[in-house]
Amino acid sequence: MKKLTYQSTRGGESGVTASQAILKGIASDGGLFMPEEIPQLDKTMEELSGLSYKEIAYEVMKLYLTDFTKKELQDCIEKAYDSKFDTEQIAPIVKAATAYFLELFHGNTIAFKDMALSILPRLMTAAARKNKVDKEIVILTATSGDTGKAALAGFADVPGTRIIVFYPKNGVSHMQELQMVTQKGDNTAVVAIHGNFDDAQTGVKKIFGDEEFGKKLDAGGFQLSSANSINVGRLIPQVVYYVYSYANLLARGEIEDGEKINVAVPTGNFGNILAGYLAKQMGVPINKLLCASNDNRVLYDFFTTGTYDKNREFVLTMSPSMDILVSSNLERLIYLSAGCDAKKTAKLMKDLAEKGSYTVTKEMQKRMKDFVGGFATEEEDAKAIRELYKNRGYVIDTHTGVAAAVWKHYRDESGDDSKTVIVSTASPYKFSRSVLEAIQGPSMMEDEFEIAEELQRISMVPVPNAILELRDAGVRHTMECDAADMEEAVAGILGIA
Ligand SMILES: *Cc1c(COP(=O)(O)O)cnc(C)c1O
Repeated sequence: MKKLTYQSTRGGESGVTASQAILKGIASDGGLFMPEEIPQLDKTMEELSGLSYKEIAYEVMKLYLTDFTKKELQDCIEKAYDSKFDTEQIAPIVKAATAYFLELFHGNTIAFKDMALSILPRLMTAAARKNKVDKEIVILTATSGDTGKAALAGFADVPGTRIIVFYPKNGVSHMQELQMVTQKGDNTAVVAIHGNFDDAQTGVKKIFGDEEFGKKLDAGGFQLSSANSINVGRLIPQVVYYVYSYANLLARGEIEDGEKINVAVPTGNFGNILAGYLAKQMGVPINKLLCASNDNRVLYDFFTTGTYDKNREFVLTMSPSMDILVSSNLERLIYLSAGCDAKKTAKLMKDLAEKGSYTVTKEMQKRMKDFVGGFATEEEDAKAIRELYKNRGYVIDTHTGVAAAVWKHYRDESGDDSKTVIVSTASPYKFSRSVLEAIQGPSMMEDEFEIAEELQRISMVPVPNAILELRDAGVRHTMECDAADMEEAVAGILGIA
């Protein structure tokens, strides 16, 4: 098979193999790795409809990760999508109201980040062997809540790796924080930042770009990598469930072969929805991609005006994993819409870094017409959750609620009633209080576990193990620091101060 190589969206690197791109995470010029071309599926939807999630994972990943052997890929897939998931379907699709909810929260941290982060450590260690890396790989990650736990769980006690996670002290849910600070594993560290997610993300990017610090790490026997959603090792496993969704709906007779569907995706860093776009480019009959934002509606404004402007108030919402003003993966769409013009992309990203905003050309805007921007306020989110429960008895989380609200709004406004897959990104139990209050109004209950039990009573879905095990888990991580001191924190943790 033809070898696919990767290049930086900013032009500084090209001819990079998939395994190198996974190891590096981010290109040395600060750009993101993109395949030199988007591969086409080499099986028909009809053929794919007979395959399992794992088999489809192989069919998709083999097209992108061409320097991995069949055995390596299958091995990674087998070990990633095993009994850590509480259903053999891995990503079940539930029909409720007139939409299909693609449940991506059946992994061990009950959010969709598990879909990619249960396989990334496998891909990374295989890539390290392939490239004869002799240093310990240090995963540095900023999290808006869910990436952190999923990455910690994925990398805990994986030989040859360390993982350090930074999260905004007051920017994650109680359950998300508990999940992280109780993480086991001798190679794990968790640090709370006095700042928001963007501060944490900027801090991590800064560490990656600091050459002096890189030398210090190198001398200490370490090499940095990223588990953030900019890593192609996360992006590509996420393409799988869009292909799987279509194949599954086809197998169930819910759609005709070739019938176009829409997808609605609750969006923060733009990684999940970009994977859906790649699936479309590979040949999956997807029409519109509904990009659903919460009150941090920077992407909605971008798709409606062509101007991306992060100079605005950062709002804390009940969908914290989408409280983001700098959507890193959007750079990949910018690059594609610029006709893979790295110079143009680099210029726009420079504008973003210097002024906090940039404007794309009319031509580029036209090339992005597959995307429809939408947003839901807190009340609209709560209403979507409440109505779905009242009408169908189906409980969704606060992030999925944003997508459900945006989908309804879009359908009513546009009259486009194509079948739609709503990407369901977290278990309602991860945000029990907000979900329960959306359904029942303000709650007097203080104890999070009591709230979870009440949610169990009304939803008749058992409380997942991921929540139950937190009840007695001891806190293992208590480090805090200012966003400006993250590099020092890393040095301290690694003992290279
Ligand atoms: C991370 C996350 C999102 C946003 O996904 P992106 O890929 O960052 O756009 C949405 N919902 C939940 C529950 C998440 O954890």
